[in-house]
Amino acid sequence: MKNLYHSETKKVFLTFDDGPSTVTPTILDTLKKENVKATFFVLGSRVEAMPETVKRIYEEGHYIANHGYTHVYSFIYASPQAVLNEYNQCNDAVKNAIGVPEYNSHLFRFPGGLIGGKYAEIKSQAKELLSQNDILHVDWNALSGDAETTQPTIEYEMQRIQETVTGKSSVVILLHDAEAKAVTSEALPQIICWLKENGYEFKNFYEIIK
Ligand SMILES: [Zn+2]
Repeated sequence: MKNLYHSETKKVFLTFDDGPSTVTPTILDTLKKENVKATFFVLGSRVEAMPETVKRIYEEGHYIANHGYTHVYSFIYASPQAVLNEYNQCNDAVKNAIGVPEYNSHLFRFPGGLIGGKYAEIKSQAKELLSQNDILHVDWNALSGDAETTQPTIEYEMQRIQETVTGKSSVVILLHDAEAKAVTSEALPQIICWLKENGYEFKNFYEIIK
């Protein structure tokens, strides 16, 4: 993970946060058609609502990683222990959904990102606590901008992808799997096409963690 952003060859990790959602099937259909494996940072509360969708994500070879349970900052960032508790709650939901009792993704993404904000100090302490429990964390170094505006368009997302990916050899792209961000699932074929045209090879975190 330390060398994640250093690569001799061009690599891209597509990461989808906040799912599963009603648009997950569309995302999965596109990934299957394009033969691309991605990583889903799922929310425990959503996993409990849509276990069958999580099972499909898993069975189609994507990496299921952890984004906590509530996504409510005042809950998850109440203390470092609260972060670990939400990790475990989400992990339990994933185990149940996919029917794999020993499942542990060992990979967390902090809601809102690790760096900065009102809860920076709690997040920094939580990072240590997670590390003591063999849980890595990852942010991103490129994005589609689907969380930057309330109604992003496909054109806007393509522009933000090109701006934030260009010049980087190893890229972790932040995307959202959420009903309110359905445009991301519509932009996905173009995003994948542009990345392929620019020589990027698609990876997911199985490559690094398992
Ligand atoms: Zn999120």
